Amino acid sequence: MVEKRQRSTVNGQRDLPREAEARALALLDQVKDPEVPVLSVVELGIVRDVEVDDAGAGITVTVTPTYSGCPAMPVIEEEIVAALEAGGFRAVAVKVVYAPAWTTDWIPESAREKLRAYGIAPPGDVTAEQLVPLGPVVRRVACPFCGSNDTGTTSEFGATACKSLHVCRACRQPFEHFKAF
Ligand SMILES: [Zn+2]
Repeated sequence: MVEKRQRSTVNGQRDLPREAEARALALLDQVKDPEVPVLSVVELGIVRDVEVDDAGAGITVTVTPTYSGCPAMPVIEEEIVAALEAGGFRAVAVKVVYAPAWTTDWIPESAREKLRAYGIAPPGDVTAEQLVPLGPVVRRVACPFCGSNDTGTTSEFGATACKSLHVCRACRQPFEHFKAF
């Protein structure tokens, strides 16, 4: 979730920066992650903070990449600036912070449901099984289509490094899994 700093109102005046921040968040919720086009950068937890200065003139968006070296990040930054400028904001600055590191735990349950509906197994839907004591551990990813755990891994890397490819033995559907990290 995006943490909002508490601001005080002066003499009962409208708290303009906070309204602007809410408007900015709504605009940013239209910016999808190119690697996971069903989720916005807000839903993915990439946008950590939005701060409008007290004059309402400048806006700073703090972002944390999904993983360091994420190739989509420059594109996302450009789209964030473009979306805010299209919404009337001036002087848009994007600040990239790497600590704390992004984790799939920042994806809320509502967004995980969207991933499932899109056919991507959300992070965390993994049960690890050890076939024989001290033998190889097999990660089984629940099928987003039928929920079966009877799935196999086709590739550790899908179209992007953050997703792996699987196939469901129950419904025979291939699917992607957003890896947990
Ligand atoms: Zn299935």
